Amino acid sequence: MIYPPACKQGRAGNCSTTFHFWISSLKYNIIIFTDLNITPLKNYKYFALLFVFAIGCRNEKPNAWIDQDRLRNREAADWLTTGGNQDMQHYSPLNQINRENVAELGYAWEYDASTYIGNVPRGLEATPIVVDGIMFTSGAWGAVYALDAKTGKELWTFKPKVDPSYGRRACCDVVNRGLAVWEGRVYVGTLDGYLVCLDTQDGKVIWTTDTFSDRTKAYTITSPPQVAGSIVMIGNSGSEYGVRGYVTAYDLKTGEEKWRFFIVPGDPANGYESPEMEMAAKTWDTKSHWQSGGGGTVWGESAYDPELNLLYVGTGNAAPYPIWFRSPSGGDNLFLASILAINPDNGKLVWYYQTTPAEIWDYTATQNIVLADMEIKGKLRKVLMQAPKNGFFYVLDRATGELISAEKYTRVNWASHVDLKTGRPVLTEQGQWYKDKPKLVVPFLGGGHVWQPMSYNPTTGLVYIPERSVPQVFKTFETYQWLPDVDNTNLDYAEMYKFRKHVLDQVKKSEDTIRTESLLAWNPITQQEAWKFPEGGPDGGVMSTPELVFQGTRTGYFNVHDAKTGEKLKSIFTGNGIMAAPTTYSVGGEQYVAVMAAYGGAETSGYLSDAVIFEYENRGRIIAFKLGGGETPLPPKRKPIATPAPPAVKIKDELIARGAYLYNFYCDICHGKFGDRHLSQHPDLSKMAEAKHLLFKDIVLKGILSENGMANFSNSLTEEDAEAIHNFLLKQQTLLYKAQQLK
Ligand code: CA
Repeated sequence: MIYPPACKQGRAGNCSTTFHFWISSLKYNIIIFTDLNITPLKNYKYFALLFVFAIGCRNEKPNAWIDQDRLRNREAADWLTTGGNQDMQHYSPLNQINRENVAELGYAWEYDASTYIGNVPRGLEATPIVVDGIMFTSGAWGAVYALDAKTGKELWTFKPKVDPSYGRRACCDVVNRGLAVWEGRVYVGTLDGYLVCLDTQDGKVIWTTDTFSDRTKAYTITSPPQVAGSIVMIGNSGSEYGVRGYVTAYDLKTGEEKWRFFIVPGDPANGYESPEMEMAAKTWDTKSHWQSGGGGTVWGESAYDPELNLLYVGTGNAAPYPIWFRSPSGGDNLFLASILAINPDNGKLVWYYQTTPAEIWDYTATQNIVLADMEIKGKLRKVLMQAPKNGFFYVLDRATGELISAEKYTRVNWASHVDLKTGRPVLTEQGQWYKDKPKLVVPFLGGGHVWQPMSYNPTTGLVYIPERSVPQVFKTFETYQWLPDVDNTNLDYAEMYKFRKHVLDQVKKSEDTIRTESLLAWNPITQQEAWKFPEGGPDGGVMSTPELVFQGTRTGYFNVHDAKTGEKLKSIFTGNGIMAAPTTYSVGGEQYVAVMAAYGGAETSGYLSDAVIFEYENRGRIIAFKLGGGETPLPPKRKPIATPAPPAVKIKDELIARGAYLYNFYCDICHGKFGDRHLSQHPDLSKMAEAKHLLFKDIVLKGILSENGMANFSNSLTEEDAEAIHNFLLKQQTLLYKAQQLK
């Protein structure tokens, strides 16, 4: 849709009425001119009319129009970026819902945002954007929903036709962490790698572009795009699968590629794309395992400072994890696990800070980046804050990249501290290579804080972090080989699980073995804990208002805490595991709080699972709350599924061990454990019906269920492999069926 040029300038407002009149008058004029055979140029009335309408809407903008001016002068009623404001603080000054009345918070409306590909519920992780009473948000595979924020009524949806086989390449479900709304357009990345630009008014596609450099590698997109100046930047995911991370900038209007910044160097034999890559290559072994890509994918929330004109990007972990296979002689391996400041006009690096040099523990620095201006030691500093997986809370000068402070916000045993002079972590014995023997390391590979956004509250001066402390035994295979479309971390998960018990027994009294989760309030100036609320778990992202902190939990609650003390003031049971961060906004003078609720991905894989939520069916819901609202409807209870009698075929016992190994490597990440321990939203393969058994090989090797999201594995598994897995599953089903008959 094209707007009169004048509408794009000036203050916020609504010129759609004027606009329609403008268009009609134009048509009317043309008709008259044609009928009377008068050339428009001679018709001074025509120009006078145009002039009047241009003046009339000069200081107005179309509905739901976000631009730099509006973002700078954000009105409390709106939530304009995934992080709410320009600084990505996940904070709103709205205070109609406050300490005194939050007890009256209740259900306002909900919208069904379940997946549209296959029938398995998928995770929802985005924070909705709300502007002029319209909510824009994204769901599984890169779907977009535009809703009336007062009622939840659907205005339009965009459901991209995504190749479901990309689901196999997504380590942690086919999620999407949000979109960007800018100057009448919505920008979203689809799981299979397209950046799509839609019209905010009707969801029509304006342009779409393929962002993947190599479709033979297991790239996906799960992150939100970031607008910076005249470009929109998008990253990707896939480090676990062995890819080379990069971000790409596109012209906001045309989608034309402007620049691409690789996070790690490629094989120097092929030359360097940029001086930055030449510099980074000096921190890698020249004989690095280039085929593995090196990792460093950018899949979290970025940020942009328009005054400094700097785009801030957090980069991911290494591929493979052990540096002795990746870059055998070691080195810092830039720019893994780093925060980069990039000039969005030309894609040049302005500064960088590497949180975890020579990364070997999945310590991504893709966690949400928050900007703030605060007084530190008597000086007003423009800072950037991040609590990456590695367990340190970093405060950097965002103009220069200078490290202001870094302290442990959670239990950390791989480093004793960060040396403020060198900016580098000082490694402990546990932080040495786990090459020759397994090591017990905290935080675990899921991090002290992962993607769920933290919130900075300028009123209390505190940062609220979904924190967790989980120990992890790291052990690797003795050799390494890159394989397409599979986990290329080279961690020996089966042995790690066995060793875990052994190692935990050995260090029983060590505090490194304690597992805790919390909502943590952190003072970024003193780098100290202000309060910690242990119960409930860290699961959901966080949002705060002057007096309150809002957070959903994997156990299905939506909680509200006192921002100063942490006291839990309100708890609403939704029956849906919640991972996403909430949003808040005001329509018609009434404040709402909304959150995307649906569970999925790594959070259901078992290491932090909680059976409570599995009493209810997982549903993709956007739930909104307001003061005086009602009871929140619960999803239907899950019905236990009986184990069907296994088909009468002879099980080949000699194949079972191999089948178990292959199941754990290829299938477990989605399908999980069997019987009572089955917490995954994907089918329990110990309960397959006769028809599935008959088609087993076609499902696995021919992809006959790929439209449902069950990918073809023929590039990884042979006929014999599939048969071994099938025999392992037959054995499980037989055992569980027998146990069921005895009950
Ligand atoms: Ca990772």
